[in-house]
Amino acid sequence: MKKITKILVANRGEIALRIMRSAREMGIRTVAVFSEADRQALHVRFADEAVCIGPPPSSASYLNIPAILKAARLTGADAIHPGYGFLSENEAFARAVLDEGIVFIGPSPSSISLMGSKLAAKKAVEAFGVPLVPGTSEPIADPVAAKKLAARIGYPVLIKASAGGGGKGMRIVNREDEFDEQMERAVSEATAAFGDGSVFIEKYVSSPRHIEFQIFGDTHGNIVHLFERECSIQRRHQKVIEEAPSSVLTPRLRQAMGEAAINVARSAQYYGAGTVEFILDENLNFYFLEMNTRLQVEHPVTEMITGLDLVKLQIQVAQGEKLPFSQSDITMHGHAIEIRVYAEDPANNFLPDVGRLTTYQRPQGHGIRVDDGFEEGMEIPVHYDPMIAKLIAHAGSRPEAIAKMLRAIDEYRITGVATTLPFCRFVLRHPAFYNGKFDTRFVEQHYRPEKLVHEPDEETVEVAAALAALAASESERQVTALPVANQVSKWKLNRLY
Ligand code: ADP
Ligand code: ADP
Ligand code: MG
Repeated sequence: MKKITKILVANRGEIALRIMRSAREMGIRTVAVFSEADRQALHVRFADEAVCIGPPPSSASYLNIPAILKAARLTGADAIHPGYGFLSENEAFARAVLDEGIVFIGPSPSSISLMGSKLAAKKAVEAFGVPLVPGTSEPIADPVAAKKLAARIGYPVLIKASAGGGGKGMRIVNREDEFDEQMERAVSEATAAFGDGSVFIEKYVSSPRHIEFQIFGDTHGNIVHLFERECSIQRRHQKVIEEAPSSVLTPRLRQAMGEAAINVARSAQYYGAGTVEFILDENLNFYFLEMNTRLQVEHPVTEMITGLDLVKLQIQVAQGEKLPFSQSDITMHGHAIEIRVYAEDPANNFLPDVGRLTTYQRPQGHGIRVDDGFEEGMEIPVHYDPMIAKLIAHAGSRPEAIAKMLRAIDEYRITGVATTLPFCRFVLRHPAFYNGKFDTRFVEQHYRPEKLVHEPDEETVEVAAALAALAASESERQVTALPVANQVSKWKLNRLY
């Protein structure tokens, strides 16, 4: 296949920038598409060319397939990268791109379609001996029949949307008398979010930990995994903190789950980047949940521990190249943690809090990576996902990575909107997190908004300590000080006050 020369990125925000950076390093030109709300956005400024594709609502812009294809034709892009979210898991979009003679940087439309349905995916992987959560294998609409099945599976059960994603259309039912109400809610949520109300029932796995494997395939039939990520810290079934490796996997379990993940990919004749999600119970039994057929939000933690650039690999695979390594060549180094910095108020039920970033100063330093799409003074548009940034810390060990992340959180200065930073600090300082003794119910079990109320006090104490230290060094310095040293001290004082 011929080399890609120009990539249109059909996305916005941090992930659009992330993709363009790798493209630029490879000498590939980049095209941004943007909505009227994103005229000033960083991905638009970073790209070699940019095309406005419509008004602010996603349905009219970032989900507008004809407009995106038109932008590709106009600019002569020979490949399209869909990022995550938006059209990234839309089979019709992938097909339409290929029909235009443009390379789709992702898996085949048939892989997308198979894995896009959780039920179809479960059927396909079962034949490959991958363990599944006990549950129904067909969609169910009749509440009476559904309740019978739930009783057979045994409570608690989870009602899930087959077309689900982003934690939507999912309901836990603890007892039979709650079933009807929860089923109704799941169906209406699924219909609203995915235009498809079909639901199915799964056993609710107790003490569930979310462990997923990054897999990579090429068009020559090679498939490898790039180890796991643990994403058990969630709110509303959505991830907020991710890490690699997981603190609970033994090398043996890692190998077994890695092999199962590769089998899942084989069942879909998969190529490109993909993520196989598993749930792990308290006895370390693992079960297949779903496969995401795209680059994942949390892919940076895998990049940090493997040293690989996943976007570059996606582009190489899309050009028809073979994977440049085999399973035994891939090794893990140290530990990486990512936190998602959302414009949400953790003191108020994580409600989105959009507005202007009146202060925005990123943390820096050894082992710190910030993937974002904002600068100080920018507005966070109401039309899209309220994620401001991903903050990633990489260090030699898990405790060092936690210390580094806490240092970086303290350095991050954001005012104008509430963010999930104080919540993430709370989690990283919590003994259950530190000791690796947590599951997806962490927030429910350990977090109360009141716990954040004490934060300013703690900070005050820290600042007071810093001031005391400064005062001490100041008095020492004054003994030998030249006039210039005083100016330095004054600057320090100004900054701390
Ligand atoms: P994961 O990648 O781990 O599955 P999510 O399910 O949270 O994590 O990520 C996909 C979600 O990201 C989408 O459902 C959508 O809500 C959101 N999203 C889509 N596009 C963007 C974007 N450009 N910037 C931020 N968030 C986005
Ligand atoms: P989505 O498409 O919304 O990402 P998933 O099937 O990946 O849906 O599930 C999202 C989250 O819901 C998981 O990370 C996990 O926390 C929880 N979950 C899903 N299935 C189960 C289950 N059977 N038992 C317990 N928790 C589950
Ligand atoms: Mg999922």
